[in-house]
Amino acid sequence: MSQFTGKTALVTGATSGIGLAAARRLAADGAHVFLTGRRQDALDAAVAAIGANATGIRADVANLDDLERVATAIRERGAGLDILFANAGGGEFAALGEITWQHYADTFNTNVGGTLFTVQAVLPLLNRGASVILTSSNIDTKGAASFSVYAATKAALRSFTRSWAAELVGREIRVNSIAPGPIETPGLTGLAPDAEAAEQLLKGLAAGVPMNRLGRPEEIADAVVFLASSASTFMTGAEIYVDGGASQV
Ligand code: NAP
Repeated sequence: MSQFTGKTALVTGATSGIGLAAARRLAADGAHVFLTGRRQDALDAAVAAIGANATGIRADVANLDDLERVATAIRERGAGLDILFANAGGGEFAALGEITWQHYADTFNTNVGGTLFTVQAVLPLLNRGASVILTSSNIDTKGAASFSVYAATKAALRSFTRSWAAELVGREIRVNSIAPGPIETPGLTGLAPDAEAAEQLLKGLAAGVPMNRLGRPEEIADAVVFLASSASTFMTGAEIYVDGGASQV
């Protein structure tokens, strides 16, 4: 029997990158995983790759009706929810002076609102002992030129982690966050306007990591498994930095 056999998980933003790696890992360890994302084709491919332990639901985290459909599907399965990896998110570069209201609203609605309303939608379904894991960023404690709105959304998630841990401790639900450093995903590469700029960006980011490399999505999935598992039962309100030492050394 695998460590998550009989458990139900929800991974938002599971069509790509970190979310996809975490969904694969949780399913491989026995959980039934609900995967969400906005792109139906990518969702179908992810579910097909994972197999019988996966259910895909096309959903935008910035849309309350979509989130309600996700909650309904989990409710109808009848086993509640044990693991929530609220991971959907992203950002774009915009220097101070060039930030539009749309950039601000899109980034906050997806990263902050999307996380908040995902948690609220499934709150009644969370089983005693459930683990809620948010995806912040190691950028939440540092200054980040041209990335200030994104960094602020991740700092907000750091704050949510603490407050929700306080609110849910009575239900024996733990809330923690993972702060990835630069992880090689389509989301990271997509910050650059073209392939050449992407290569430069990834090189520069790797050089800023004491381990002198980018992280892999699977290395974040390992941290998700840790926070979802009985290996972390005395942890709540915490943030784990998985960033090759970038924010610490
Ligand atoms: P990615 O490859 O672009 O994956 C992002 C995922 O989020 C995709 O599955 C995308 O699916 C989904 N998504 C985005 N907006 C959504 C929305 N409104 N509703 C539902 N799903 C949405 O990027 P990633 O690097 O794996 O990022 C995953 C998380 O890690 C993000 O929260 C990101 O901020 C965080 N993070 C990443 C890094 C890094 O270096 N890669 C570092 C720190 C933190 P669809 O396109 O199908 O909707």
